[in-house]
Amino acid sequence: MAGLTGLTLKAALDGLANKTFSSEEITLDHIAAVEASSALNAYVVQTPDKALEMARASDARRSTGDAGPLDGAPLGIKDLFCTEGVESTAGSMILRGFKPTYESTVTSNLWRDGAVMLGKLNMDEFAMGSSNETSAWGPVVNPWRTQGGNAQLTPGGSSGGSASAVAAELCLGATATDTGGSIRQPAAFTGTVGVKPTYGRCSRWGIVAFASSLDQAGPMARTVEDTAILLRSMAGHDPKDSTSINLEVPDFGSFCGKSVKGLRIGIPKEYRVDGMPPEIDALWEQGIAWLKDAGCEIVDVSLPHTKYALPAYYIIAPAEASSNLARYDGMRYGLRVEGANLTETYEKTRAQGFGEEVKRRILIGTYVLSAGYYDAYYLKALKVRRRIADDFDQAWQTCDALLTPTAPSAAFALGEKSDDPVAMYLNDIFTVTVNLAGLPGMSVPAGVDAQGLPLGLQLIGRNLDEGTLFSLGSAIEKAADFRARPQKWW
Ligand code: GLN
Repeated sequence: MAGLTGLTLKAALDGLANKTFSSEEITLDHIAAVEASSALNAYVVQTPDKALEMARASDARRSTGDAGPLDGAPLGIKDLFCTEGVESTAGSMILRGFKPTYESTVTSNLWRDGAVMLGKLNMDEFAMGSSNETSAWGPVVNPWRTQGGNAQLTPGGSSGGSASAVAAELCLGATATDTGGSIRQPAAFTGTVGVKPTYGRCSRWGIVAFASSLDQAGPMARTVEDTAILLRSMAGHDPKDSTSINLEVPDFGSFCGKSVKGLRIGIPKEYRVDGMPPEIDALWEQGIAWLKDAGCEIVDVSLPHTKYALPAYYIIAPAEASSNLARYDGMRYGLRVEGANLTETYEKTRAQGFGEEVKRRILIGTYVLSAGYYDAYYLKALKVRRRIADDFDQAWQTCDALLTPTAPSAAFALGEKSDDPVAMYLNDIFTVTVNLAGLPGMSVPAGVDAQGLPLGLQLIGRNLDEGTLFSLGSAIEKAADFRARPQKWW
């Protein structure tokens, strides 16, 4: 891997501040790494000219002493974020050729703080998936392989491009989004750190909508501190998103490395599911021991409605998606397939533009919202959602954060679950509850399985309490001392 691409974001920012190297230099190293990584299919659009222009402008700012907190740092952007003048397709054929005339708030915040854009990262179509295989532009490949094996593994999804790019050192950090686990599960599958902030922390404006009451943007990077640095820039109130939180953004980095002594960590018994690999159970125990050693108190808690979370999620998310995706009619964005009349044009455009999984979600969503089924499914799911949030509120009476595995498996092979939607949905079992309750969650790499694949632990916090997660995450990071890196084969 080329010279400067292996640095952490923090080390790169220090190097830039000390003028050890320029943004142009670190950006050129990244452009070369990205160009040489087509086997991973992590980037769907590369923007080297734009990156160099941004890097040179950053170097000019540095020389006059007015650099921002991310000045000169090359980042990758999940293709769900609209970027002005740069094709943004959300992994879908129906948005092919769509060049937004505006910039999402989150990416605007990153550019305001001086970051450099390397390109757009592949993802599951409209962020629906857990393996990146629903992308219209082909699956992303995980840079990790089993020891001695050469099977192609999934980087997880839907932010698989972000995860793969961060793990393979194709950017210093990346944006991602999480509706049901799409930041945390790919982070776990690739040995990276992923943070899903409290709902409303980051503006949704300019992010292609999947399920608006669940969607939340967050960072992925190689260390806990790097995600804290990124989140500070990404977050903030935005009048253009009515659900954006109007609160000062804390200095998340200041929580990293802070003592966690005396914090009470809840272990939810319902997360001990049947069929979970013993290694994941063992890693969970290890995580408990690490936090105990760091001075935390461990308490058993119960989240009794956990078993209804996946069914509720797979009603609410498709319901919202069916409504959000109604706008893709061939008139305003991307693809248009002409028919004999307007209705036929709509039908043909949607039939050809959407992939199988997206169509499945639209059908499920339309069904659960239709007269006669609305009360039985959608309304019921909303009630379950309330109960799930109540379970967490109850848990916060006796603990300050929760520790669980991030996913019930390590990265699986491409193709392994793609014919079985239910098996795929089951991979989200530990992550969807957090979105239903709007809480912050984080995945931290904590070890490898017997085959040498990374595994993650998940921390769940109270509303708006990302700070505690950054402290706990860095405690786990320190104890785990996770240094394994994928062997370069691409
Ligand atoms: N895997 C989940 C789904 O397919 C979550 C996706 C996400 O968080 N965007 O809906």
